[in-house]
Formats: sequence, C-alpha cells, structure tokens
Amino acid sequence: MSTIFEKLDNMSEEIIEIRRYLHQHPELSFQEVNTAAFIAEFHLKLGHQVRTNVGGNGVLAYLKGGKSGPTVALRADFDALPIHEQTDLPFKSEHDGVMHACGHDGHTASLLGLAKVLNGMKDEIEGTIVFLHQHAEELPPGGAVSMIADGCLDGVDVIFGTHLQAQMPLGEIGYRTGPLQAAPDRFDIKIQGDGGHGASPHETKDSIVIGGQLISNLQQIVSRKIDPLDSAVVSVCSFEAKNPYNVIADSAFMTGTVRTFKEETRSFIENEIEQIVKGTCDVSGASYEYTYIRGYPTLINHKSETEFIATLAEDVPGVEAVNETPPIMGGEDFAYYLQHVKGSFFFTGAKDPKWNKSYPHHHPKFDIDERALVIAAKVLGKATLEYMEQASKSLGEVY
Ligand code: MN
Repeated sequence: MSTIFEKLDNMSEEIIEIRRYLHQHPELSFQEVNTAAFIAEFHLKLGHQVRTNVGGNGVLAYLKGGKSGPTVALRADFDALPIHEQTDLPFKSEHDGVMHACGHDGHTASLLGLAKVLNGMKDEIEGTIVFLHQHAEELPPGGAVSMIADGCLDGVDVIFGTHLQAQMPLGEIGYRTGPLQAAPDRFDIKIQGDGGHGASPHETKDSIVIGGQLISNLQQIVSRKIDPLDSAVVSVCSFEAKNPYNVIADSAFMTGTVRTFKEETRSFIENEIEQIVKGTCDVSGASYEYTYIRGYPTLINHKSETEFIATLAEDVPGVEAVNETPPIMGGEDFAYYLQHVKGSFFFTGAKDPKWNKSYPHHHPKFDIDERALVIAAKVLGKATLEYMEQASKSLGEVY
C-alpha cells in the first residue's frame, strides 16, 4: 500500500492545476465568493460535510475518519491582493488589478490536494480533520476572527498551517517556537495648521513643515526609546498635503504602520507616537487628530506542536533542510487561532533554486516554485496522521 507521500506525489499535477486555476481567477479579501464556491464544490464531490459562509466567505469541510481520535484543523487562506499582475505566466490573473501575490492560491491548492488524498485513506484515519479554508487574510480585521466566532474551532484539538515563502529555497521548512510574526498596527495622523499665501509664511502655521519635523521626530522611537534587543518598526508610509505651488498647507495627513512582538512595546509605541505628535504640534501652535488601529496580534507558536512539526518535517521526502527561522515583521491572522487552540504555523520554502532572485510577497511579479505545494501538503498530511497516531498511543487520552 502506498504511503501518503506517494499518494501526494501522484496528486501533484492536480494540485498545480488547481493552483493555476485559482491564480487566474483571484478575488479580493471579503469578496471571494467564487473561490469559496469552488472550494466547497471540491469538498462536496469528495463527500465531505461542508459549511459555507462561515464568518463571511469562509468554508469548513469535515472528514470523519473510520476510527475515533482527536480533531485536527488544517488552515489555508484564499484571498488575493489589489495588485496588477506583471508576470508573463500563461495562467496570469484574468481579473484586472487583482492578483494572488502572496501564495494563498498555493495554500488552497495544496490543502485541497491533501483533502483528496486523506479522503482516500478515510478508513485508517483516527479522528476528524477540519479543512479550514479562510477568507480575507490580507485585510484587517481579517477572516479568522469571524470564523472563530462562527465556530470554526469548535471541537478542534490542534491546528496547523503553513505559508509559502518565495524568499526561502525550495526544500526548506522554517519553524519557530514563540513569536513568529509581528503585530501589524496602523496609525493615522492629521495635522491641522493654518494655511495661507506662500509669500507670507509668518501668517500661517505650515502643516508641511510641522509634518516634516514630525516624520523626523518619530524616528527616535525605535532608535532611542526601544531596547535594541527588542524589535519594532515605525514607518510613515504616506504623507499628503497637496496644494498649488504658492499655497501653504492648511492641513496634512499621514498614515503608517507599527510592528511589534511584545504587548508592552506595542502599548508604549501607541502612546509615544501621540506624545511626539502632541509635542511637535504644540511647539508650532497646530492641533492634531491621532488614531491608532490595532491589527492582528503577534503570532505565537506553541512549543510542543512546533517541535513536533520540526521533527516530523525531517522525514518528509522533498524536505532538504529544517531550520529555525528568524521572526518576521509581517503580520498573519493565523495568530488568532493560536490564542484559542494549540498549534503551529511554519514556512515552506518556494524559491526555485534556478532563480537568481525571487520577487518579494505582494510584488506584481511575485511567483512561487510550484513544487513547494506538494511539500507543504506532505508536511501537513504527515502532521495530521502522526498527531492522531500519538494521541491514540498516549495513555489516559480518551476520545
Ligand atoms: Mn499571506
């Protein structure tokens, strides 16, 4: 009888086909109606119990094994980004201005392929598998929160998920216990000065000059106020004060992002930005409006589930290296699941070794090595079966 690995190898063409279909038909966060229908249809054909419109466009599919045991959830996200694709791929996006530029098409294809293989092994499966297809990962408040509220984790004992990494070589698996991805927050600042004639600055409160000072002053938070051994980012990503050449700006608007790993650092920066905005505006007699919007929490991996993934990944064919990965400043709403149940989120390398350079995630030329899809499925599949096997062996566990 062939192993799950051989079965997945035989499935790899179909997985790639699914990924290309999804890539060609991307949908934006919270608008993924057709993608959700495609996923639901796939599971229905396999005979899985399916729940649609879970917390929005989320889809849940359940595979009940022939034997009793724990419930393992496997998560894949399926939304795309508002980016105009600039690749030359034959299956390039058909939806102008929308692109799968983060690999979520690959996550979904990989999980669907795995679902089909596990379905074929149903009788031997010792427990229940929840295929958790999450909408809207890219856009806060994200899909995870509403899916959890709608019961996607009910009865779930453990959750696993992976993100393809175009910067990480194919064959590599990256794991990390504890904080893996930062909390991505947003701030908005409006500076209200007093506009006027460009020739008479003394009669104005120049919002552009104040804003310029503010941008500089904000640089001191990370460089002078945060412990160098902690990590944080404060980036002003937009500054607007558009006027004709001879008009001094009445108001200016800036927005940006804060990335942190620790709650205390997060609250400190939230407060510190306001102190600096207030101080800078006070000196110039301007007023301000300040809003701080919290995004996803820090993604914190559970220790034993992460070590479990790292250990089993060593024995997965196609995996050449299992490395502890440094944390990244990008956010990920998988963080919410880990606040409710045990689990681990890991990275699957997807950079073709032949590429000199790979484009970063969210780039209009982003692409992945599709061979990574079957590797991701193998690690998730093996994790599921092995978790169930260990649970059935461990004394005292009753399912
Ligand atoms: Mn992503």
